[in-house]
Amino acid sequence: MTSYTPGPTRGDVVPSAILGLLGTRGPSSRADIARTLNVSPATVTQITKELIARDLVEELDSVPSQGGRPARLLGLVRSASGAIGAKVTADHVAIVDVQLDGTVQAFTSEPFDPAAPDALDRLCRILGSAVGSRAGQLLGVGVGVPGSVDSQDSGVVDAPTLGWGDAQVGPMLRAALGVPVLVDNDVNTLAAAERIYGVGRDHSSYLVLTVGRGIGCGIVINGAIYRGANGGAGEIGHISVSDDGPDCACGAQGCLEARIGDAALLTEAIARGAVGKGGTTADLLDAALANNVAALDIYRNAGVLLGRALAGVIHTLDPEVVVILGEGVNAWSFWEQGFEQSFRRHLMPSRRGIPFIVEPWTEDQWALGAASLVLGTPFDASGNAGEQGHLVRARLHSTPIEVLL
Ligand SMILES: [Zn+2]
Repeated sequence: MTSYTPGPTRGDVVPSAILGLLGTRGPSSRADIARTLNVSPATVTQITKELIARDLVEELDSVPSQGGRPARLLGLVRSASGAIGAKVTADHVAIVDVQLDGTVQAFTSEPFDPAAPDALDRLCRILGSAVGSRAGQLLGVGVGVPGSVDSQDSGVVDAPTLGWGDAQVGPMLRAALGVPVLVDNDVNTLAAAERIYGVGRDHSSYLVLTVGRGIGCGIVINGAIYRGANGGAGEIGHISVSDDGPDCACGAQGCLEARIGDAALLTEAIARGAVGKGGTTADLLDAALANNVAALDIYRNAGVLLGRALAGVIHTLDPEVVVILGEGVNAWSFWEQGFEQSFRRHLMPSRRGIPFIVEPWTEDQWALGAASLVLGTPFDASGNAGEQGHLVRARLHSTPIEVLL
C-alpha cells in the first residue's frame, strides 16, 4: 500500500525518522521536518500523506509561519508508544519505562548480583516483569552495561566489573522477552540519549564524558556512535596518567580512573582525614561543602587531571562540543576549580574555545539512556542498531515489515 519509494540506502528510515521526530520533539510542520531530517519538502509531503492515511499521523492546529500562509502542524496519533531501558550495575538493575517523547512513566531498581550463576536468567526475569506490566505499545528494550559490547544488535558483553566475559545478554533477553532488544556500553547509551533529546539535536559530532564510579566517554561522529574495532572505544578512564600510579581494575597501571574515579577519591579522602573510615563519596562532598581543605584539594586535583586528559581527546577527535554528566557532576563546582583552567591550558589555541556543558544528573538517567537505544532507532540512518533497529521501526509503524521494504 506504500505509494513512496524509499531510497536504496535509507530503507525504512525516512518514514520512521518522521514518526520518531514527531514523537521525540512533538508536533512539527512539514517544513520543519524537511529541514531537520535534511530531506526534500516533496518527500516529506508524500510520506506524511501516507502516514496520515494509515492513521499514524494527524494534522493539528495551524501556526503562523514567517511571511507565508499558516503552517499546519503534524502530530502522532498514538502517543502510548515507548520503550523500557535498563542499566545493569554490580549490585542492582535500574529500570525505566519511557514514552516516545522521553517522559518517564516509571522508574524502579532491583537488587542484582552479576556474579551469581543464574545472573542472566535473573536479568531475564526482572525485565520480563517490566515488559509484562507495561501498558501501551512497546517498541523494544534497551540495556546499558559497564563494559564492551560487540554490537547493539548482537549484544554479547565483556564487562570485567560485572565478572562477565562473552555474556550472551542480547540473545538471552530476545529469546525470553520476545521483543527487540538493543544492548550497548552504558556511556554510549547516554550519547544516544543526547542525540535525540540533547546536544545531538544541534551538533553531529560531540563527546559525552562521564565522571563518577568510572570515567568514560561516548564518541559521536557525524551523527553515529563511534564504537571502535571491538566495541571498546571511548575508555578514556584508562588513559595512563602516571608511571607509578595505582593499579587499575582493568589490569593496567596508572589509569586516570584509578586516580580520579569515585573509589580513588574516597581512598585519598580517608587517607588525608577529610572523611572517616567507612565514609562515602557523599561524605566527601559534604566535607567539601564544609570547606574542608583536603576535600577541596582532592576535587581540584581531580579536575586538573581530567582537564588534561580531555584536552588530548579533543585534539584526537575534534568534536564540536563536550557534555559532562554522571553521578560525579553533583560535586562539579569543586571539580571545576581545577578543571577549566587545566582543560583550556592543555588545548592548542585554535581549539581552546570549545564549549563544554555540565548537565544536572538524576538517578534514572543511565536507564533513560538505555531506553534511548530503542527510541533513537528511527533516526538510525548509519545502521548502528542493525536488524533489531529494523524490528523496532517496524513496530513503530505497526505494520508488517514487507510493506516497508
Ligand atoms: Zn585502567
